[in-house]
Amino acid sequence: MTTQTRLIEKEDDKIYRCCPLWQTRNNIVWERSTVDKDVDVLFIGEAPGKDEDLQGKPFVGKAGKKLDEWIFELDLLNYAIINIVKCRPPNNRKPHPSEIRSCLPYLIKQIQKFNPKIIIALGATPCSVLINRKEVVANIGKIFQTRYGKVIVFPHPSYIARGVDVYVPIKELRDILKEIEEDKNKR
Ligand code: URA
Repeated sequence: MTTQTRLIEKEDDKIYRCCPLWQTRNNIVWERSTVDKDVDVLFIGEAPGKDEDLQGKPFVGKAGKKLDEWIFELDLLNYAIINIVKCRPPNNRKPHPSEIRSCLPYLIKQIQKFNPKIIIALGATPCSVLINRKEVVANIGKIFQTRYGKVIVFPHPSYIARGVDVYVPIKELRDILKEIEEDKNKR
């Protein structure tokens, strides 16, 4: 992590009382990443769960194990993982629209910092925020050009970890990454 990034996050920690979730959280959950900026892939989940709240890092519990399996399968070296909302909603309830709105400036800052080639929307909440669609299953594997950049829809890893039978578009992501790389080399 660069000094610059650390300073921004330290400052944000101080001021980060932008919605009532600060009262029940243990930690603000920012990100985990292999590099500080310019990643190939940015995974975006919903909000921290219990393990994430305790450790201060996204996707470190059961869902994170499944996500790490996908990352391994994809052979990704250059990636980051964040959430739409940075503080755990009590009892893992879905974040309220007002909480999502309060966190949006931080989300945008993170997307700008990581400048990803592609964003992975993990499940319903990132789908509704990033591509304005409530339906996940019908959009799995589809690619959307959005104001945040290119977005591909994945099921939330917690569904797959629980044994729900939903398609995981690893092949589609691999293909789009290859395409992006080929386009870059043509230029
Ligand atoms: N589920 C999420 O959406 N994010 C996490 O960080 C953990 C579980």
